[in-house]
Amino acid sequence: MEVIPIDLDENSYDIIIGENLINNLDDILSIKDERNFILTDRNVDMIYGDKLHNLKHFFKLTIEPGEKSKSIDVAIDVLRQMLEKGLTRKSTVIAFGGGVVGDLAGFCSSIYMRGISFIQIPTTLLAQVDSSVGGKTGVNLNDYKNIIGSFYQPKKVIIDVELLSTLPKKELMSGIGEIIKYGLIYDYEFFQYIKKEIEGIRSLNNNVMKYVVRRCCEIKARIVELDEKENGLRKILNFGHTFGHALEGGTNFTRYSHGEAVIVGMFYETILAKKMCVIQELYSNEILSFLESLGVDLSLSEYSTSVLIDFMTRDKKNKDNKISFILPINRGEVKEYLLDINEINWN
Ligand code: ADP
Ligand code: ZN
Repeated sequence: MEVIPIDLDENSYDIIIGENLINNLDDILSIKDERNFILTDRNVDMIYGDKLHNLKHFFKLTIEPGEKSKSIDVAIDVLRQMLEKGLTRKSTVIAFGGGVVGDLAGFCSSIYMRGISFIQIPTTLLAQVDSSVGGKTGVNLNDYKNIIGSFYQPKKVIIDVELLSTLPKKELMSGIGEIIKYGLIYDYEFFQYIKKEIEGIRSLNNNVMKYVVRRCCEIKARIVELDEKENGLRKILNFGHTFGHALEGGTNFTRYSHGEAVIVGMFYETILAKKMCVIQELYSNEILSFLESLGVDLSLSEYSTSVLIDFMTRDKKNKDNKISFILPINRGEVKEYLLDINEINWN
């Protein structure tokens, strides 16, 4: 079992990483209060519901799987259940699931009685390396992702890499997209490790996964510690996301998983950096050929550029009509560029 401390003054907490943690949850959680809540989704409950059964002092609420559940309406349902079950200021909410469950449970715990304790047990690779760390919570409204939400840190994050063994392949690739991003934005040696061990990652070798998840959490933690509320440095986590979010939105969130869209996004944003001459050819080619080797469809032929541009211009990170792009410039280093959309040549 490894522990990564996250240092955020009074909001500090630990990330615990290991295998088989799920079988000793009562010990690891050490919850004192009598009334607590565990939120999960139907798929996860079907596979791991038995393990949750043994937890003492917990009410379980199961939501429908998928992004549709990240809505204000479902949040109100969850909050109503929390109230009806008599949760108090001393209660704890556990998120047991992927990013949808984590974002929803985090949001509800941040506003119930002005904030009660919250613990993350992420079950997807994406949630283990990304969304469970950093304290962003939220739900979607209309077409806008995460437009209602809060910064709210969990009391603990418990990561059991064995939970990944049941994950569908597409969801696995989603996490791999974010893993590669961490190497490219912060740690070129880690990028080399990912390239070398990509088969170990794809086949979920437990030792490789424990190292990869740990390194991603460490990198994200260091970035979040320096910039908890996204005023500056934290923006580098958006590499691949300006384009990626537009691609997800432009395809109605049906064609690409989030991380797959980030892979396509990193690919085209690297090409953009190349066109702007802010990256060396040798390095950009290394990034592009690795992203190509992953087997994610990188061709955009069926989408109109205007739809993607429309989504990019709506991004909440834009400033003065310019679009914020995080572009790779050196090994393990990226930089923000604010670009006028009409001046970008995607072809
Ligand atoms: P993400 O973590 O990618 O943001 P979701 O919360 O939507 O996304 O989870 C993605 C899908 O994977 C959902 O259908 C969810 O029910 C399913 N899922 C989550 N964890 C597991 C797991 N450990 N095994 C199998 N399926 C899982
Ligand atoms: Zn992401």
